[in-house]
Amino acid sequence: MSAGDPTARGLSEAPVPLAQPVLGEPEEQAVLEVLRSGQLSLGPRAPEFERAFAARVGARYASAVSSGTTGLHLALRAVGVRDGAEVITTPFSFVASANVAIYERARPVFVDIDPVTLNLNAEEAAAAVNERTAALLPVHVFGYPADMARLERTGVPIVEDACEALGGVYADGGTIGGRGHLAVFGFYANKQITTGEGGVVVGGDPEFKERIDSERNQGRAPNMDWLDHDRLGFNYRLSDIACALGLAQLERLDALLAGRERVAGLYREALADLPELTLPCENHGQARRGWFVYVVQLPRGVDRDAVITQLGARGIAAKPYFPAIHLTRFYRETFGYRRGQFPVCEDVSDRSIAIPFFPRMSEGQVARVAAGLAAVLQSTPRTSGRLASHAR
Ligand SMILES: *Cc1c(COP(=O)(O)O)cnc(C)c1O
Repeated sequence: MSAGDPTARGLSEAPVPLAQPVLGEPEEQAVLEVLRSGQLSLGPRAPEFERAFAARVGARYASAVSSGTTGLHLALRAVGVRDGAEVITTPFSFVASANVAIYERARPVFVDIDPVTLNLNAEEAAAAVNERTAALLPVHVFGYPADMARLERTGVPIVEDACEALGGVYADGGTIGGRGHLAVFGFYANKQITTGEGGVVVGGDPEFKERIDSERNQGRAPNMDWLDHDRLGFNYRLSDIACALGLAQLERLDALLAGRERVAGLYREALADLPELTLPCENHGQARRGWFVYVVQLPRGVDRDAVITQLGARGIAAKPYFPAIHLTRFYRETFGYRRGQFPVCEDVSDRSIAIPFFPRMSEGQVARVAAGLAAVLQSTPRTSGRLASHAR
């Protein structure tokens, strides 16, 4: 594009969104085929998608479900989480990963996070295990693998929230999702692949699959008639329309992941001049991040919300990411959680913003975000350190 091209200039001025799915002809074709077949659910696309997804992450099987949240819910039920049990998890996550325990009248027990990886602190998680603990629910936050080896030494059943981690690799090698535990992926439109709404549960124990497949479908076993039910179930199915979309997205997964990797590299370079910012941690050992979002931590004392507003005024989308779960109103009022209990999580959460990140982001868009951040950081007034974040 030449500098004098008015179209190019117009495009570069357009707002930069936080996320943008890659959807094209193959997705349109795949969906059209299902529409024309007349079989919109419980058809052939769901098992095809499940087989392709399981193969991709090296799992024995996959079960397609209506969302990441419903997948986590069924996974917790499968490992035996019930009334009065405790589920040890992280307060630095999307709220769904803790809510699913509450659906079963179990208690989410939070432990603080590692300041570098931002994943739950595995030593603290191990120390929190007691006779009521029914499951550990680590989240591979922002696609970076949690310390699985340490969690596994507790012997407690594990459900992995891998909703942000498609394409990631564990610290001891192996694709995230292929470890044998139940692991859940989500396909909302900002994830590595999308089905609009949707998710899968992958795993290694066939008994878990039997139960999950039945419970997502009103408690019906595969060999049973339409209106026969042998256990309590839900409607957590994923339609054939969505599964067809998922198959088309899987076909281009390598390119989607490579695109995210490329943009992360561009940011790493473009933001190197802003040493005040804390960038996502680098891969360590064999661990590989499955790039999902680009989250930076602002320096202490900077008004995070003012930064977001000013970026917005420049046409750059940004969001606080994540707000600490234990400090949301429902958790404070229901469980009595309060500020000060998980200081690392609170400090990180007070300073973290997600900036635009998607596979086809251009160099120009990355440069514009970086320049915008630099300008906004320079013009935002500072208060002194920690006091500011705690006062909010
Ligand atoms: C996206 C996501 C989920 C699942 O979200 P759904 O919208 O239910 O698919 C769960 N946990 C985390 C950490 C997520 O980012």
